[in-house]
Amino acid sequence: MYSRIASIRSGLHRKFGHRNNSSGILKKKENIYKNLLPGKLYHGFICTDVEPIKEYNMTAYFLTHEKTKTEYLHLERDDPNNVFSIGFRTTPQDSRGTPHILEHTVLCGSEKYPVRDPFFKMLNRSLATFMNALTGPDYTFYPFSSQNEVDYRNLQKVYLDAVFKPNLERLDFLQEGWRLEHEKLEDKLSPLVFKGVVYNEMKGAFSETSSLFGQKFINTILPKGTYGNVSGGDPLCIPELTHTQLKNFHSTYYHPSNARIFSYGNFPLELNLKFVNDMYLSKYEYLDSKNSVVKPQERWKMIQRTSTPCRVDQYGGPVEKQNQIAMGYVMSDITDVYDTFMMTALAELMIIGPNSAFYKSLIEKNISGGYNSLTGYDNQIRDTLFVVGLRDVEKTNFDLIENIANQTIEDIHSKGFGREHIESVLHGFELSIKHQSPKFGLNVLFNLMPLWNHNGPILKALKVNQLLDQLKTNLMDSNYVKDVIEKYFILNNHKLIMTMQPDPKFDDVFNEAEAKLLKSKVKELTSEEKEHIFRDGIELSRAQKKVQNLDILPCLKIDEIILSKTAPTLKHTVSGTIPLQLCEANTNGVTYFKGVLGAENLSEDQRALLPFFNYILDKFDTKSYNYRDFDKFVSKTTSGLSFVTHVTEHIDLEEQYEQGVLISSHCLDENLPKMMDIWSEIFSQPKFDNSKRMTMLFGNYCSSLTNGIIDSGHVYAMQAARSLVSSVDACKESLLGIKHIMNMQQTQKKYKVEDIQAIVDSIGKTILKGGNLRAAVHYSRNNNEFHEEIDKFCVSMCQNQDCKDVNRINFMDSMVQSKENRGLHVSMNIPVNYCAKVIPTVSYMHPDYAKLRVLSRFLTSKYLHPVVREQNGAYGGGAMLTMDGVFNFYSYRDPNSRLTMDVYDETTDWMDKNVSLVDDQNLFEAKLSILQQMDAPVAEYMKGVELFLYGLSYDIWKTQRERILGVNRDDLLEVCQKYLTPDKWSGKCVIGEGASQQLCKNNEAWEKVSGPQEKDVTC
Ligand SMILES: [Zn+2]
Repeated sequence: MYSRIASIRSGLHRKFGHRNNSSGILKKKENIYKNLLPGKLYHGFICTDVEPIKEYNMTAYFLTHEKTKTEYLHLERDDPNNVFSIGFRTTPQDSRGTPHILEHTVLCGSEKYPVRDPFFKMLNRSLATFMNALTGPDYTFYPFSSQNEVDYRNLQKVYLDAVFKPNLERLDFLQEGWRLEHEKLEDKLSPLVFKGVVYNEMKGAFSETSSLFGQKFINTILPKGTYGNVSGGDPLCIPELTHTQLKNFHSTYYHPSNARIFSYGNFPLELNLKFVNDMYLSKYEYLDSKNSVVKPQERWKMIQRTSTPCRVDQYGGPVEKQNQIAMGYVMSDITDVYDTFMMTALAELMIIGPNSAFYKSLIEKNISGGYNSLTGYDNQIRDTLFVVGLRDVEKTNFDLIENIANQTIEDIHSKGFGREHIESVLHGFELSIKHQSPKFGLNVLFNLMPLWNHNGPILKALKVNQLLDQLKTNLMDSNYVKDVIEKYFILNNHKLIMTMQPDPKFDDVFNEAEAKLLKSKVKELTSEEKEHIFRDGIELSRAQKKVQNLDILPCLKIDEIILSKTAPTLKHTVSGTIPLQLCEANTNGVTYFKGVLGAENLSEDQRALLPFFNYILDKFDTKSYNYRDFDKFVSKTTSGLSFVTHVTEHIDLEEQYEQGVLISSHCLDENLPKMMDIWSEIFSQPKFDNSKRMTMLFGNYCSSLTNGIIDSGHVYAMQAARSLVSSVDACKESLLGIKHIMNMQQTQKKYKVEDIQAIVDSIGKTILKGGNLRAAVHYSRNNNEFHEEIDKFCVSMCQNQDCKDVNRINFMDSMVQSKENRGLHVSMNIPVNYCAKVIPTVSYMHPDYAKLRVLSRFLTSKYLHPVVREQNGAYGGGAMLTMDGVFNFYSYRDPNSRLTMDVYDETTDWMDKNVSLVDDQNLFEAKLSILQQMDAPVAEYMKGVELFLYGLSYDIWKTQRERILGVNRDDLLEVCQKYLTPDKWSGKCVIGEGASQQLCKNNEAWEKVSGPQEKDVTC
């Protein structure tokens, strides 16, 4: 896993996403570490700080290991979802991907656990609620969370041995990093090619344009030291890395003196301290870690400009409009906690929503497809960045955009921000502190890690209320705002303007460079080295196929698993004609509203535009407000409104489904009356007659659709494949998949803005009715007025309605598909493929469903992961069973396509030959990996939501869980033969340039889809 370029631009997507992301109030337990006092020594650690963090009801303990100086932060909180993590500051001085490849190879076996890939093996031997390893721009860390203490200790053993005592064998380096290998392993005469998991992973990462832009931008604006390099590895530099360099990097950076250890939750801290000290830290001497320190960059005296090419987006708009521009400033040092907190708020005031200055000046000018993914405030690295950028712009507008941006900053400097606007942003912070998430511990870790990595004051950063008080005072002072804008923008010359332009030859350029590198590598080889490469290939393949003894790895036992989930207390009533599901929960003073609006009465034309309707529903004038005031009202009193296209199949009856819109919002208890007023505004139909705004929003919507396809290519591939075997999925595909993107491009050509307005308006008239709504509310005990408010809303919604029927879940029949084996090749100019095969089986309630579900996990870990990933070089491969009973095979960033499809088709053959693998332990592991999902903690505001959305009650869930535990060896073999033989009706999909590898087989009917801009690439 590699998070650098993927996560770095998270600033704006998570609306209030920094350091105060989410939390909850949990009853404070008596301090169980009464004897942990500052200044005292515990298992080699000196406790240097004990501080209560009142806003989150927790206590922070900061300790330093006496001998090695390892830092340790423990957050004690009465939360059963405990977290543990160890991280290192890893600051590469080149782009060979050393930290990333190291992150992969330390998980390939260690002194105590010398098995291949103990990390992936543990995925099936644990009830972890989270397990991962992440490479950031300047750190690598290994976090996990679990509610089960035996499990927690097991994982701790494996993780710590992996990072401190990895085997780092040469074959692991070849498998995970890079290698030269014969295209046909056994054939010395076949050409040599580059292979390796990280090598392919990074090829994939570099083909996502937004990732590439983010990477290039950081490398250019912070060119000195580690940020000038690609920590994940540039595919053209990775083949320079040697096995010895990797081992040296490990001994320098993965040293206790360069480590930071974190734990969170209600398990006893002292056991952690004792374990890490006795087993590892006490055996090391101190090593000065100054070589990993990142120094702040010297600020530029002059603004700089540069341009970089990218691939043509074949599924995007016209190529001449596919340019991007980003204007960025280097801001405060990450260790300046208050300034980074303040900048988070400032960035929101400047960028987000129709009241922000940049939205008004840049977005509403309608010369782009909206903000690009770099836009926002990034405080994940030492020198924090503010970036504003646009996608889908014409080159001729670059200068204009830059001038507007400069003018906007001048305007903010002279006019400041409106008071109401400031209040709404501050309200967002307050609400997010109250909003509970079961991932609180992990969120804190992710938010603290970048700061801690540079020795920032992490305890100060946790005291959000203090920061917020200071912020309130400052933002209301117009001179303060003026000074900040002057300092960070007007007088700041460390500014980069970077443009990105599509180059039809982009892939050729890479391919040529890769070929050249390959040629030079091969040319250097002596005949002896060639012989080595040939033998390595064979040896690696053998090692990958060798059956291993996994008994040395710890594993949970069946009696250590306890069913802790209980049935939520739900009340079902009807108000007006609106069915209500009410759940009193520990929501920490927040009320949550959800609703489903039926969309079964829409015509085809209307349905095609439903996702767009959802996108704009809260962006127009309403009965009582213009759109700017409406936005202020919404963000001052709620979390914002959410509208999501909702298509769900019946859990029992095949080919029955519901389609609609899921609406939701939450607010502080005292704002409930206002939140319901907001919903009343929406229900009385926004005015869609502002055609200028409609044109702009439609353009932005279409422009946003292709972003992220490559990051989630397997999801799109499975969705497209399912649409060939299920008409419910065909419906989903046209609303959420590749098909939807294609449809929207047609719509852009076919319709005038008046047509779109008319359709959107008619959708609103059809579905925005009280009689078409069912709702669910989660509320806290002390919210006394809640019943009255909800009732008032429901009754008013149902006045003057002709329909007096109560609206439950509205399932409808779907069309039956013809049982023909079809395939879809979604042609795309990317260097890797995403392959999917899907087979319809049985519905969720059918007794075979649980067996198939266990089978999907078994096949993933015993067949698909070893063959598709380890042997054939894809980044990932597996199987899953969707709620509608479709069995899905998938691969991720896969250099193959035909070969992978064959692997899918040969599943039952493989099973016949490997019956012995279906033993008690493997069966148990497959079940355990399902229980990980089923037993994962549920947020208070999500209790009973499965019943509300899918009709899935606690009892049904519990039966499913019992069935999963009851699946035996014969069941697995039986359902495999019964449902997965190659003659079964199936759908297939390949996204990528897979066509070069003959996809069609037997009598399958394959269809090829090309993006509208493909001609511009091939010419
Ligand atoms: Zn990775």
